[in-house]
Amino acid sequence: MNLHEFQGKSILKSFGVAIQEGKVVDKVEDAVAAAKELSAETGTEWFVVKAQIHAGGRGKGTVEETGSHGVVLAKGLDKVEETVKGILGGHLQTAQTNGVGKRVNQVLIAEDVYYPGDSEPSEFYMSVLLDRERGRNIIMYSTEGGMDIEAVAEETPHLIFKEEIDPRVGLQGFQARKIAFNLGLSGQAFKQMTKFVAALYAAYEGCDASMFEINPVLKTSDDKIIAVDSKVTLDGNGLFRHPDYAAMRDKTEEDPTEVEADEAGLNFVKLDGNVGCMVNGAGLAMATMDIIKLSGGNPANFLDVGGTADAARVEKAFGIILKDENVKAILINIFGGIVRCDRVAQGVVDAYRNYGNFPVPLIVRLEGTNAQEAKQLIDDSGLDVHSVVLLQEAADKVKEVLA
Ligand code: GDP
Ligand code: MN
Repeated sequence: MNLHEFQGKSILKSFGVAIQEGKVVDKVEDAVAAAKELSAETGTEWFVVKAQIHAGGRGKGTVEETGSHGVVLAKGLDKVEETVKGILGGHLQTAQTNGVGKRVNQVLIAEDVYYPGDSEPSEFYMSVLLDRERGRNIIMYSTEGGMDIEAVAEETPHLIFKEEIDPRVGLQGFQARKIAFNLGLSGQAFKQMTKFVAALYAAYEGCDASMFEINPVLKTSDDKIIAVDSKVTLDGNGLFRHPDYAAMRDKTEEDPTEVEADEAGLNFVKLDGNVGCMVNGAGLAMATMDIIKLSGGNPANFLDVGGTADAARVEKAFGIILKDENVKAILINIFGGIVRCDRVAQGVVDAYRNYGNFPVPLIVRLEGTNAQEAKQLIDDSGLDVHSVVLLQEAADKVKEVLA
């Protein structure tokens, strides 16, 4: 589950990570009061207004309606309202929003932390993630912060460092010091960075995250180390342990069909092909998508209906798949292990009938317990459903109906 910047920062702060402080608002009328409150707490007189959407590149992005960027400085309390107006309620397009602007429902009014002082502020990059192959957590970091890290990886890969952490022993002191050293820090900034890294790693473990990306981590002109941005992804499988984090979910940022499927207990991911898939079990769903591809088609979705494929569930799944206008055929591929194929077949027949005028060809492959009875049931139903036995037959049939 992805979080907004301000939500990620609140989690980081609760684990002792120093952050750029801010207040989130969803109404222009509340902006000045929020900025005043922030001034009272932090002493800041300059602000930065930051659009809260689930996409990076906000600083360089553009609000369609106003032409404003998604991250804008407001140098003074008198500039806050006007700056918020340029962002809040608009649609922000960034390099990561695929050509469609995302509506900005909230903005963060944060303290300007790039204030002048004894030294220049400098921006670093830091992320924490899981390397599944190595079974280790990785802290990835670079002196080249604030910019597009993919470009750094492409052009100057030697400027990206990786520190591997064995989850059984945790982050060691020498590792935090090595990171601070490699970032070229000394004195107070060095000390602050080791504290920052330790707190960040503790947060990563403590909140069951699957990814942290802090870009930039800032060394302020007075040698504080703080998180200016936060991109936090929590592991959905760990959310049951954190009801307070689960409540941070913002469904308006997600694909509406995926939200509907989720509420119906269906595991659904939209893709951009033309063959709708309804399968039980994630592994079989992957194999089904592969065979569709191999026979020249393109899956329109991943859908795991789970163990109980009764009429109500199948009907719900049809509804979700058929929302996608690109779908030109549906392939049902169910293996009856615990669930009996004839029961699934009855569910398919009932759902198909209930649907009325089914808009695309339907190919059904049921294998496993009572597969014969299931095929018989479908063939006898008199409905225009193609039932097949082998997966290859299913793929060939898909090709045939699409041709
Ligand atoms: P992103 O563009 O979505 O990654 O959003 P960020 O939160 O990373 O902000 C984008 C850029 O805005 C940062 O890389 C900084 O250069 C700049 N920025 C963020 N906060 C401040 C601030 O307090 N003061 C100044 N001067 N610039 C800031
Ligand atoms: Mn950023």
